[in-house]
Amino acid sequence: MWRVAAVRRCGRWAGAPGPRRERQRRSSAGGWRASWRIFAAPHWKSERVIASRQGPHLQLAGGGAGIINFCANNYLGLSSHPEVIRAAVEALEKFGAGLSSVRFICGTQSIHKDLEDKIARFHQREDAILYASCFDANAGIFEALLTPEDAVLSDELNHASIIDGIRLCKANKYRYKHMDMQDLEAKLKEAQKHRLRLVATDGAFSMDGDIAPLREICQLAQKYDALVFIDECHATGFLGPNGRGTDELLGVMDKVTIINSTLGKALGGAAGGYTTGPKPLIDLLRQRSRPYLFSNSLPPAVVGCASKALDLLMESNAIAQSMAAKTQRFRSKMTAAGFTISGKDHPICPVMLGDARLASVMAEDMLNRGIYVIGFSYPVVPKGKARIRVQISAVHSDEDIDRCVEAFTEVGRKHGALP
Ligand code: PLP
Repeated sequence: MWRVAAVRRCGRWAGAPGPRRERQRRSSAGGWRASWRIFAAPHWKSERVIASRQGPHLQLAGGGAGIINFCANNYLGLSSHPEVIRAAVEALEKFGAGLSSVRFICGTQSIHKDLEDKIARFHQREDAILYASCFDANAGIFEALLTPEDAVLSDELNHASIIDGIRLCKANKYRYKHMDMQDLEAKLKEAQKHRLRLVATDGAFSMDGDIAPLREICQLAQKYDALVFIDECHATGFLGPNGRGTDELLGVMDKVTIINSTLGKALGGAAGGYTTGPKPLIDLLRQRSRPYLFSNSLPPAVVGCASKALDLLMESNAIAQSMAAKTQRFRSKMTAAGFTISGKDHPICPVMLGDARLASVMAEDMLNRGIYVIGFSYPVVPKGKARIRVQISAVHSDEDIDRCVEAFTEVGRKHGALP
């Protein structure tokens, strides 16, 4: 009723119809229709409410205790690690709830500088700059770095935040086919006419669990005089012998120029993002990067979490290594059961099902058996490539993993995904 009244009121308020009013009326009606289509679409995204800490075992609001969680980016289980929580509490007590300011006005505390130093040391780079999120880091880098005389070459399956960051810059844009080195080479040749070339790729792709061929990318970059940028959100902390990421895993730490990553996944899971790389680039970002210049500083508790997570990782490589065997257990048992798991050696294990409805009903049925996983279908992944994405964490027990495989096998047989 209130909606009808509001629409009538808007109609009166809009004044007498003329050509401009008519155009406005039509476009706002189109807008409403589009919104209702979103409501009706099968890919409408709802939220499940969790009533406990993030971890391998969850309690859902309104019941559902002891659910085994296989859909968080909590790869190392640090989100609820006691030392990470204690570090957050200490930072909160000593440095307060927040800064009420951007960094360059009165929002920089010693802990922000310490964390930036630590991030740079962790990645073996010259300097680092913090953002409120990696989404912001990606939104802020391309525009600050590239001019209309430059070119950016981006993998077609890069994360939405890289795509949006590139949209904001005025450089010439090239999109190469996913991990296709022939296509990248062709685009690099075409881009020789520009002043500077930047190849941008996710280190590990979150929908498929596949890892960018960084060795080949860096060789091409060298051949065609380009810089390499990687987004390491699904690699930092656990890929490579010491968890430094995809560049360490593939032996190209000295060839990748710029890394953007998040503090909101393996590194404690609170929030925050960063860019790390050459000092002149970081200096430039402090002067020019809009999400850094015009948004509040990271809250001390968040800084405390990430700082402790990095300490734990730099003390020993045991945590970084702790997940690999569990990933292997899940991937091999699921393959033996007859499922196709996309990607290789990455804790993102997409169980490929093809059909969108099948992915959705199987995910629902897995929850009925106490296993929390999420189905993905078009437009998040290409049509016909629906899947259930399983994410393994270092804090899953072997028993958790075996229960997940058993539930998949039962549910897969029930719904015809397995013979
Ligand atoms: N880049 C990639 C590849 C991601 O998966 C995500 C988050 O989902 C982001 C960037 C954004 O990270 P943040 O949550 O820190 O904004």
